[in-house]
Amino acid sequence: MPETSVDQRPCARGERCAARTITTLNGQRVAVPALTYRTYCDPCRDHVGAILAGLPALYVRVHGELGHHSGGGERVTVSRTPPVPLSLGVDALLREVVTVLASWEERVRTVARLAVLDTQASRRRPDGQALDAACRLLAAHLDALLALRPEPMLRVRTIPEAAKLPPGTPGVVREVAGYAEVILDLSGADAGAEILRLHARCAALLTETRAPAKHLPVPCDWCSYAELYEVLTWDGRPDGARCRECGYEYSDNEYTLLRGRVYAEELARAEAQPRRRRLAAAEYGALSGRTPACSAVVPDDERMSA
Ligand SMILES: [Zn+2]
Ligand SMILES: [Zn+2]
Repeated sequence: MPETSVDQRPCARGERCAARTITTLNGQRVAVPALTYRTYCDPCRDHVGAILAGLPALYVRVHGELGHHSGGGERVTVSRTPPVPLSLGVDALLREVVTVLASWEERVRTVARLAVLDTQASRRRPDGQALDAACRLLAAHLDALLALRPEPMLRVRTIPEAAKLPPGTPGVVREVAGYAEVILDLSGADAGAEILRLHARCAALLTETRAPAKHLPVPCDWCSYAELYEVLTWDGRPDGARCRECGYEYSDNEYTLLRGRVYAEELARAEAQPRRRRLAAAEYGALSGRTPACSAVVPDDERMSA
Protein backbone atom coordinates (compact mmCIF):
# COMPACT_ATOMS: atom_id res chain seq x y z
CA MET A 1 0.00 0.00 0.00
CA PRO A 2 1.38 3.42 -0.90
CA GLU A 3 2.11 5.79 1.95
CA THR A 4 -0.88 8.00 2.72
CA SER A 5 -0.55 11.72 3.21
CA VAL A 6 -3.31 13.90 4.61
CA ASP A 7 -3.56 15.81 1.31
CA GLN A 8 -3.87 12.67 -0.76
CA ARG A 9 -7.14 10.92 -1.53
CA PRO A 10 -8.16 7.89 -3.56
CA CYS A 11 -8.52 8.53 -7.30
CA ALA A 12 -12.15 9.41 -8.15
CA ARG A 13 -12.39 6.45 -10.56
CA GLY A 14 -12.37 4.14 -7.54
CA GLU A 15 -12.01 0.45 -8.34
CA ARG A 16 -11.68 1.25 -12.03
CA CYS A 17 -8.66 3.50 -11.47
CA ALA A 18 -6.03 2.87 -14.17
CA ALA A 19 -3.28 2.80 -11.52
CA ARG A 20 -5.17 0.59 -9.01
CA THR A 21 -3.27 -2.00 -7.06
CA ILE A 22 -4.62 -5.39 -6.03
CA THR A 23 -4.32 -6.30 -2.40
CA THR A 24 -5.72 -8.93 -0.06
CA LEU A 25 -7.97 -7.73 2.76
CA ASN A 26 -9.39 -10.31 5.20
CA GLY A 27 -8.65 -13.01 2.65
CA GLN A 28 -10.51 -11.11 -0.10
CA ARG A 29 -8.81 -9.59 -3.14
CA VAL A 30 -9.63 -5.90 -3.47
CA ALA A 31 -8.73 -3.27 -6.08
CA VAL A 32 -7.37 -0.17 -4.33
CA PRO A 33 -7.40 3.09 -6.33
CA ALA A 34 -4.15 5.07 -6.51
CA LEU A 35 -3.74 8.01 -4.13
CA THR A 36 -3.56 11.45 -5.68
CA TYR A 37 -3.39 15.12 -4.67
CA ARG A 38 -6.00 15.84 -7.35
CA THR A 39 -9.42 14.42 -8.23
CA TYR A 40 -8.06 11.81 -10.61
CA CYS A 41 -4.61 10.19 -10.56
CA ASP A 42 -2.35 11.02 -13.51
CA PRO A 43 -3.09 7.89 -15.60
CA CYS A 44 -6.87 8.40 -15.11
CA ARG A 45 -6.57 12.11 -15.90
CA ASP A 46 -4.73 11.20 -19.13
CA HIS A 47 -7.39 8.59 -19.87
CA VAL A 48 -10.16 11.22 -19.64
CA GLY A 49 -8.04 13.46 -21.92
CA ALA A 50 -7.66 10.68 -24.51
CA ILE A 51 -11.40 9.93 -24.38
CA LEU A 52 -12.18 13.64 -24.91
CA ALA A 53 -9.84 13.73 -27.91
CA GLY A 54 -11.55 10.71 -29.47
CA LEU A 55 -15.15 11.64 -28.63
CA PRO A 56 -15.90 13.76 -31.75
CA ALA A 57 -14.78 10.91 -34.07
CA LEU A 58 -16.89 8.43 -32.10
CA TYR A 59 -19.88 10.81 -32.30
CA VAL A 60 -19.51 11.00 -36.09
CA ARG A 61 -19.39 7.19 -36.32
CA VAL A 62 -22.50 6.73 -34.17
CA HIS A 63 -24.28 9.50 -36.07
CA GLY A 64 -23.26 8.18 -39.47
CA GLU A 65 -23.79 4.48 -38.89
CA LEU A 66 -26.88 4.46 -36.72
CA GLY A 67 -28.24 7.95 -36.34
CA HIS A 68 -29.66 8.19 -39.83
CA HIS A 69 -32.09 5.36 -39.16
CA SER A 70 -34.31 7.93 -37.47
CA GLY A 71 -35.67 9.09 -40.82
CA GLY A 72 -38.56 6.64 -40.63
CA GLY A 73 -38.83 3.46 -42.66
CA GLU A 74 -36.74 0.58 -41.41
CA ARG A 75 -35.90 0.58 -37.71
CA VAL A 76 -32.97 -1.34 -36.35
CA THR A 77 -33.27 -3.06 -32.99
CA VAL A 78 -29.99 -4.01 -31.33
CA SER A 79 -31.25 -6.31 -28.65
CA ARG A 80 -34.58 -7.61 -27.44
CA THR A 81 -34.32 -5.83 -24.09
CA PRO A 82 -35.24 -3.05 -23.91
CA PRO A 83 -37.42 -3.11 -27.06
CA VAL A 84 -36.67 0.51 -27.98
CA PRO A 85 -36.01 1.25 -31.64
CA LEU A 86 -32.28 1.91 -31.97
CA SER A 87 -32.80 5.22 -33.70
CA LEU A 88 -34.69 6.71 -30.74
CA GLY A 89 -32.00 5.71 -28.28
CA VAL A 90 -29.28 6.95 -30.60
CA ASP A 91 -30.88 10.34 -31.15
CA ALA A 92 -31.33 10.86 -27.42
CA LEU A 93 -27.78 9.73 -26.68
CA LEU A 94 -26.24 11.96 -29.34
CA ARG A 95 -28.20 14.94 -28.01
CA GLU A 96 -27.11 14.14 -24.47
CA VAL A 97 -23.43 13.96 -25.52
CA VAL A 98 -23.60 17.44 -27.03
CA THR A 99 -25.56 19.11 -24.22
CA VAL A 100 -23.49 17.55 -21.41
CA LEU A 101 -20.15 18.45 -23.03
CA ALA A 102 -21.38 21.96 -23.84
CA SER A 103 -22.46 22.44 -20.21
CA TRP A 104 -18.96 21.54 -18.99
CA GLU A 105 -17.48 23.85 -21.62
CA GLU A 106 -19.58 26.66 -20.17
CA ARG A 107 -18.35 25.98 -16.62
CA VAL A 108 -14.69 25.78 -17.66
CA ARG A 109 -15.02 29.01 -19.65
CA THR A 110 -16.21 30.70 -16.45
CA VAL A 111 -13.37 29.48 -14.18
CA ALA A 112 -10.66 29.85 -16.84
CA ARG A 113 -11.91 33.40 -17.53
CA LEU A 114 -12.42 32.65 -21.21
CA ALA A 115 -14.98 34.45 -23.32
CA VAL A 116 -18.42 33.14 -22.35
CA LEU A 117 -20.24 31.54 -25.26
CA ASP A 118 -22.98 33.59 -26.89
CA THR A 119 -25.76 31.13 -26.11
CA GLN A 120 -27.90 32.15 -29.12
CA ALA A 121 -24.98 31.82 -31.57
CA SER A 122 -23.71 28.59 -29.97
CA ARG A 123 -27.19 27.05 -30.20
CA ARG A 124 -27.18 27.67 -33.94
CA ARG A 125 -23.95 25.69 -34.41
CA PRO A 126 -24.45 22.21 -35.85
CA ASP A 127 -24.15 19.61 -33.04
CA GLY A 128 -20.97 18.03 -34.44
CA GLN A 129 -19.23 21.40 -34.55
CA ALA A 130 -20.37 22.31 -31.04
CA LEU A 131 -19.09 18.99 -29.69
CA ASP A 132 -15.77 19.39 -31.51
CA ALA A 133 -15.27 22.85 -30.00
CA ALA A 134 -16.30 21.70 -26.50
CA CYS A 135 -13.96 18.69 -26.55
CA ARG A 136 -11.02 20.76 -27.78
CA LEU A 137 -11.55 23.41 -25.09
CA LEU A 138 -12.02 20.83 -22.31
CA ALA A 139 -8.92 18.85 -23.37
CA ALA A 140 -6.89 22.08 -23.31
CA HIS A 141 -8.18 22.89 -19.80
CA LEU A 142 -8.42 19.35 -18.49
CA ASP A 143 -7.04 20.12 -15.02
CA ALA A 144 -9.41 23.06 -14.59
CA LEU A 145 -12.31 20.80 -15.63
CA LEU A 146 -11.43 17.96 -13.24
CA ALA A 147 -10.86 20.38 -10.34
CA LEU A 148 -14.30 22.07 -10.63
CA ARG A 149 -16.20 22.40 -7.35
CA PRO A 150 -19.78 21.09 -7.08
CA GLU A 151 -22.30 23.48 -8.61
CA PRO A 152 -25.93 23.00 -9.68
CA MET A 153 -26.29 21.82 -13.27
CA LEU A 154 -29.32 20.84 -15.35
CA ARG A 155 -29.50 17.23 -16.45
CA VAL A 156 -32.10 15.18 -18.30
CA ARG A 157 -33.00 11.77 -16.86
CA THR A 158 -35.57 9.12 -17.73
CA ILE A 159 -38.43 9.02 -15.21
CA PRO A 160 -37.22 5.69 -13.64
CA GLU A 161 -33.69 7.18 -13.30
CA ALA A 162 -35.06 10.36 -11.75
CA ALA A 163 -37.09 8.28 -9.26
CA LYS A 164 -33.82 6.84 -7.89
CA LEU A 165 -32.34 10.29 -7.11
CA PRO A 166 -32.20 11.37 -3.44
CA PRO A 167 -35.52 12.73 -2.14
CA GLY A 168 -35.70 16.52 -2.44
CA THR A 169 -33.65 16.69 -5.68
CA PRO A 170 -35.06 19.77 -7.48
CA GLY A 171 -36.47 19.22 -10.94
CA VAL A 172 -39.47 19.00 -13.24
CA VAL A 173 -41.04 15.74 -14.41
CA ARG A 174 -42.34 15.86 -18.02
CA GLU A 175 -44.77 12.96 -17.63
CA VAL A 176 -46.10 12.99 -21.20
CA ALA A 177 -42.69 13.32 -22.87
CA GLY A 178 -41.33 10.61 -20.53
CA TYR A 179 -38.37 12.40 -19.02
CA ALA A 180 -37.39 14.62 -16.11
CA GLU A 181 -35.20 17.71 -15.90
CA VAL A 182 -33.26 17.61 -12.65
CA ILE A 183 -30.78 19.92 -10.95
CA LEU A 184 -27.71 18.09 -9.65
CA ASP A 185 -24.65 19.39 -7.83
CA LEU A 186 -21.86 18.29 -10.15
CA SER A 187 -18.09 18.61 -9.69
CA GLY A 188 -14.95 17.85 -11.74
CA ALA A 189 -15.09 14.23 -10.59
CA ASP A 190 -18.62 14.04 -12.07
CA ALA A 191 -17.34 15.64 -15.30
CA GLY A 192 -14.78 12.84 -15.71
CA ALA A 193 -17.36 10.18 -14.86
CA GLU A 194 -19.95 11.65 -17.27
CA ILE A 195 -17.44 11.86 -20.12
CA LEU A 196 -16.31 8.25 -19.61
CA ARG A 197 -19.91 7.02 -19.29
CA LEU A 198 -21.16 8.82 -22.41
CA HIS A 199 -18.16 7.51 -24.34
CA ALA A 200 -18.86 3.96 -23.12
CA ARG A 201 -22.56 4.23 -24.12
CA CYS A 202 -21.65 5.44 -27.63
CA ALA A 203 -19.01 2.72 -28.00
CA ALA A 204 -21.52 0.09 -26.80
CA LEU A 205 -23.97 1.11 -29.55
CA LEU A 206 -21.28 0.46 -32.17
CA THR A 207 -20.04 -2.78 -30.62
CA GLU A 208 -23.48 -4.28 -29.86
CA THR A 209 -23.99 -4.94 -33.55
CA ARG A 210 -20.59 -6.63 -33.79
CA ALA A 211 -19.81 -10.36 -33.56
CA PRO A 212 -19.93 -11.77 -30.00
CA ALA A 213 -16.84 -11.20 -27.86
CA LYS A 214 -14.07 -13.79 -28.23
CA HIS A 215 -13.59 -16.23 -25.35
CA LEU A 216 -10.04 -16.07 -23.94
CA PRO A 217 -8.14 -19.22 -22.94
CA VAL A 218 -6.91 -17.72 -19.66
CA PRO A 219 -8.63 -18.29 -16.29
CA CYS A 220 -9.76 -15.25 -14.30
CA ASP A 221 -7.32 -14.22 -11.60
CA TRP A 222 -10.16 -13.25 -9.24
CA CYS A 223 -12.54 -16.19 -9.39
CA SER A 224 -10.31 -18.67 -11.32
CA TYR A 225 -13.20 -19.52 -13.70
CA ALA A 226 -12.27 -19.69 -17.40
CA GLU A 227 -14.88 -17.04 -18.19
CA LEU A 228 -12.75 -14.24 -19.64
CA TYR A 229 -13.97 -12.56 -22.80
CA GLU A 230 -12.07 -10.02 -24.84
CA VAL A 231 -13.08 -6.37 -24.77
CA LEU A 232 -12.49 -4.21 -27.84
CA THR A 233 -12.64 -0.45 -28.27
CA TRP A 234 -15.39 0.83 -30.55
CA ASP A 235 -12.89 0.89 -33.43
CA GLY A 236 -11.81 -2.69 -32.81
CA ARG A 237 -8.57 -2.29 -30.83
CA PRO A 238 -7.93 -4.64 -27.86
CA ASP A 239 -9.11 -3.05 -24.61
CA GLY A 240 -8.64 -5.69 -21.93
CA ALA A 241 -10.99 -8.43 -20.83
CA ARG A 242 -14.12 -9.00 -18.75
CA CYS A 243 -14.92 -11.97 -16.54
CA ARG A 244 -18.49 -13.16 -17.04
CA GLU A 245 -18.36 -15.07 -13.76
CA CYS A 246 -17.29 -12.41 -11.25
CA GLY A 247 -17.60 -9.31 -13.46
CA TYR A 248 -14.03 -8.11 -12.93
CA GLU A 249 -12.87 -5.87 -15.77
CA TYR A 250 -9.21 -6.13 -16.71
CA SER A 251 -7.50 -3.16 -18.29
CA ASP A 252 -5.49 -4.00 -21.40
CA ASN A 253 -2.30 -3.82 -19.32
CA GLU A 254 -3.67 -6.06 -16.55
CA TYR A 255 -4.86 -8.63 -19.08
CA THR A 256 -1.48 -8.63 -20.86
CA LEU A 257 0.28 -9.22 -17.52
CA LEU A 258 -2.16 -12.00 -16.54
CA ARG A 259 -1.81 -13.72 -19.93
CA GLY A 260 2.00 -13.48 -19.72
CA ARG A 261 1.98 -15.04 -16.24
CA VAL A 262 -0.38 -17.87 -17.20
CA TYR A 263 1.66 -18.71 -20.30
CA ALA A 264 4.91 -18.64 -18.30
CA GLU A 265 3.37 -21.03 -15.74
CA GLU A 266 2.17 -23.35 -18.52
CA LEU A 267 5.60 -23.33 -20.11
CA ALA A 268 7.26 -24.15 -16.79
CA ARG A 269 4.80 -27.04 -16.30
CA ALA A 270 5.43 -28.35 -19.82
CA GLU A 271 9.19 -28.25 -19.27
CA ALA A 272 8.88 -30.04 -15.91
CA GLN A 273 6.77 -32.81 -17.46
CA PRO A 274 9.40 -34.88 -19.44
CA ARG A 275 11.85 -34.56 -16.53
CA ARG A 276 9.22 -35.96 -14.15
CA ARG A 277 8.60 -38.82 -16.57
CA ARG A 278 12.35 -39.59 -16.74
CA LEU A 279 12.56 -39.55 -12.94
CA ALA A 280 9.53 -41.82 -12.63
CA ALA A 281 11.09 -44.28 -15.09
CA ALA A 282 14.37 -44.31 -13.13
CA GLU A 283 12.49 -44.94 -9.86
CA TYR A 284 10.52 -47.75 -11.45
CA GLY A 285 13.81 -49.29 -12.61
CA ALA A 286 15.36 -49.10 -9.14
CA LEU A 287 12.30 -50.55 -7.37
CA SER A 288 11.76 -53.44 -9.77
CA GLY A 289 15.45 -54.23 -9.86
CA ARG A 290 15.48 -53.48 -13.59
CA THR A 291 17.38 -50.61 -15.11
CA PRO A 292 15.76 -48.14 -17.48
CA ALA A 293 16.53 -48.59 -21.17
CA CYS A 294 18.53 -45.40 -21.31
CA SER A 295 20.90 -46.50 -18.55
CA ALA A 296 24.53 -47.23 -19.34
CA VAL A 297 24.66 -49.88 -16.63
CA VAL A 298 25.36 -53.35 -18.06
CA PRO A 299 22.34 -55.66 -17.58
CA ASP A 300 22.77 -58.54 -15.10
CA ASP A 301 22.44 -61.31 -17.65
CA GLU A 302 25.32 -59.82 -19.72
CA ARG A 303 27.49 -59.53 -16.59
CA MET A 304 26.80 -63.12 -15.75
CA SER A 305 27.74 -64.30 -19.22
CA ALA A 306 30.96 -62.22 -19.19
ZN1 LIG B 1 -6.88 6.64 -11.14
ZN1 LIG C 1 -13.64 -13.80 -12.50
